[in-house]
Order: sequence, then C-alpha cells, then structure tokens
Amino acid sequence: MTAEQSKELLLSVQGLKKNFGEREILKGIDFDVHKGDVVCVIGPSGSGKSTLIRCVNYLEQPTDGVISYRGENVLECFKNLPLYRTKVGMVFQQFNLFNNMTVLENCVVGQVKVLGKKSEEAKAIAMKYLEHVGMASYINAKPHQLSGGQKQRVAIAGVMAMQPECIVLDEPTAMLDPNGRKEVLRAVRKLNEEKGVTVILITHYMEEVVFADRVFVMDNGKLVMQGTPREIFSEVEKLKELRLDVPQVTLLAYELRKNGVDLPEGILTIEELVNA
Ligand code: ADP
Ligand code: MG
Repeated sequence: MTAEQSKELLLSVQGLKKNFGEREILKGIDFDVHKGDVVCVIGPSGSGKSTLIRCVNYLEQPTDGVISYRGENVLECFKNLPLYRTKVGMVFQQFNLFNNMTVLENCVVGQVKVLGKKSEEAKAIAMKYLEHVGMASYINAKPHQLSGGQKQRVAIAGVMAMQPECIVLDEPTAMLDPNGRKEVLRAVRKLNEEKGVTVILITHYMEEVVFADRVFVMDNGKLVMQGTPREIFSEVEKLKELRLDVPQVTLLAYELRKNGVDLPEGILTIEELVNA
C-alpha cells in the first residue's frame, strides 16, 4: 500500500462548477485531499483558484457538484456552515485581523463566538498556537504594530486556535517581502509536521510548492495537471505554456539537460542539483 492510499480521505470535491452570471468560472473539478497532506494549488491569475477554495468553504455557493468532508456531503452533515468552516479554516491574502483588537484577542474571539469556549480556555489555546508560530511575545500588540509576516502568523494562529483539521491559505505570502514569506511558510510547515494539520496552499511562489505532497495546476477553470512536485516540475514545457514559473534551480537543470548534460528530470533543490 502506498502512503497515499493509507491516508484517510479528508476532503473530496466532485464535479464542482461555478458560474458568475453567464460566465462559467469553474468547469467541473474533481480532487481529493488526504489527511496530513500539504497540497499546493497553482495556476495563472484568473484561472479560478480563489473561487475554487471559496466554494470548498461555501463562502461561494457552488453551481453544481458535491463537496464531501470525511466521506459525507458537507451540506448534509453540517447543520451550520460556520462550524464546518472551523474544521476547514481559511487564511486570506489580505490580513484577516481585527485592527481594534490585540493579537491575543484576535486569536480568542472566534473560539468564544463560534465554538462557545470560555474566555480562559480560549486564551490558553490561543497562547499555544501563538507560541507555535513564534508570536507569543506580541500578545498585547495591535495589528498595525506588526510586520506583514507577523500579521499573517497571527492570522494563522487564530485559525489554528479553532482546531481545524485543515487550513486553506489563499496566497498568504503574496503581499510579503522575502523574509515575511519565509516566516509564514516556516510556520505553516511546522504546523503540518508537528500538529499534523492538513494544508491547502494557493501560491504563485514555486519555491513554496517544492515542499508539497501534491500539486494541483489550474487553468481556465479546470484542473489541468496534478501530481507530486517532481512530476509537475518535470513538465517544464507544459508549465511554460501555462505561463507558470518553475523553481529557478529546476529551470537551470532543465536547460543543462537540454544541452546534453546528464541530469535526471525534475530537480527541485540546489542540493539535488549539486549531488547530480
Ligand atoms: P484566481 O484566484 O486564480 O486568480 P479567481 O478565482 O479569483 O482566480 O477568479 C477567476 C475568475 O472569476 C476571474 O475571471 C474573476 O474575474 C471571476 N470572478 C471571481 N469572483 C467573481 C465574482 N464574485 N463575480 C464575478 N466574477 C468573479
Ligand atoms: Mg486568487
């Protein structure tokens, strides 16, 4: 049995379609996400990535198709969608923090309002995740006092405090400088590795995709490729057609190979290239 088969199915999307007016934005999408996986979604701007995950969370009503959580239709097994959204928490590109609340309050409010937790318990849980993302020493700060990377890490801690099984991040690093991007990505990977949280990450930074277990490539409302990062990045020509980047080291290896250097396909890291 492969690792993939042994993992529990968490989210399943079947025949998902979404129209905005006359325009068909999602044209029938199927995919599975297994527990504990890091899944990256890439694709050109406007290809429907955000719409896809907004539909997965029912922030948009799908026009057609079924979304299942642990094998059950979400609309049938969840009486209230806010509760489902705590299981599949979302982090957006724009910082989703309340500006008038402190860091700690931001990570407590959802637990109290949606989950009905007592304030003391909610604070303890919030502290645990703020520590995990390296923001415990900022609990009394207001969002405007933080860098972009710090804000996003607080947002992630706030979502994690709801104890979701899966977090969905829609270009969480798009507005950040390289340092901020690294901080946020490190926090996300650590949550996956140490807490086993399933991650769906939409990104256009290919360096972030290298760590994924699976990659989904969207184009024009369809899922056009899926596979491991190595499988996906072996298809340099296809990615170029889709106007997508590949990691620079992958591109270098690809060009060397084209010029007769004996290298394997789909080199993903500098280390791999050096060894090869
Ligand atoms: P991506 O996240 O891949 O950049 P989006 O899912 O944001 O793509 O958008 C896909 C397409 O759907 C775009 O053409 C966009 O203009 C359109 N779209 C997204 N949201 C809406 C909406 N609320 N109303 C109408 N069109 C929308
Ligand atoms: Mg988007």
